[in-house]
Amino acid sequence: MGKKSKNSRKKVQRKSRQQRRKKNIDDDEEFSQTIEACNTCTDVHILRSISEMPSWCCTHNRIIFAGYRPITLSSWQTIRSLFLIHNETGNIWTHMGGAIMFYFLFQHVCRNPPDTRSMSRVDFFYLCVFFFGVFVCLFQSTLYHLFSSHSLKLNKLFAKLDYCGITILIGCSFIPWIHYGFYNSPLLQIWYISFTIICTIICVMFCIYDPFCNPRYHHYRTLMFMAHGFLVFVPAIHWISREMNNDRSLLSLDHRAHLLIFIQGITFLTGSLIYIFKLPESIYPNITIFSLWFNSHQLFHILVIFGLVIYYHSLILIMKMRLNNPNCFVN
Ligand SMILES: [Zn+2]
Repeated sequence: MGKKSKNSRKKVQRKSRQQRRKKNIDDDEEFSQTIEACNTCTDVHILRSISEMPSWCCTHNRIIFAGYRPITLSSWQTIRSLFLIHNETGNIWTHMGGAIMFYFLFQHVCRNPPDTRSMSRVDFFYLCVFFFGVFVCLFQSTLYHLFSSHSLKLNKLFAKLDYCGITILIGCSFIPWIHYGFYNSPLLQIWYISFTIICTIICVMFCIYDPFCNPRYHHYRTLMFMAHGFLVFVPAIHWISREMNNDRSLLSLDHRAHLLIFIQGITFLTGSLIYIFKLPESIYPNITIFSLWFNSHQLFHILVIFGLVIYYHSLILIMKMRLNNPNCFVN
């Protein structure tokens, strides 16, 4: 018995030693690839093909064959690339443009709150939670796409922040809905908001956990985001089912709410399918324009912004309906 357990302990130690050695080899390979790339590329204007880039630089889409910025390890060169045409230009500007647009929208909302008569500070706070999620996601995504080819270290760091941004946006989008949906049920409000926050914190912890950011686990990450979206959607299902079973429901006051929720669902679903199946470049891999423009990641970014605008409108609509009818659907 003792001999057996000693043997199995030895086996485990040998396995972990092998894994450590393999990881070191992987890191060394990546590092030497970076150095190799840096030795040959110093000018950010000279774009590269996928075969000239280290593998870590092209993880999110290997059907994009050209238009890569060289790895310069220079922050100045990287920031300069903001105003150049390469395969991250569309990705950077779609989310940076979205962040600027939402900034002006937030300024407008602060100056002209949607419902000054009945809106309390708490109601306004929940609207700000949505804007916070939007800013964090769009800003961190912009940083990732901008610095993705700076160096392996910054690529990894900003990839983690990008994943965290998606998770924070999912959480922050649902919290205001819970507040306005369960306006007259404080216990359900507290329960569901706590549930959403806990789910978001767990997902953020996964996002910053080093092994989880490995490109090998790309599918697990996508699954995690989908599971997170589904989990925090549970309160929404509860709310909609309560609404449907009630004659004095909030949604029945304005049928535009149904339409907005439907369009929003279609937008996010279309965006996810385009992202997962890499459309259209996976169907037309020989069309070179997709390396720079109109590829799946850019379309996904545009649909995210479009979905967020619709989400904002549905949130304002539901907020106005709730504030004008605070007693609608009292349990
Ligand atoms: Zn992106």
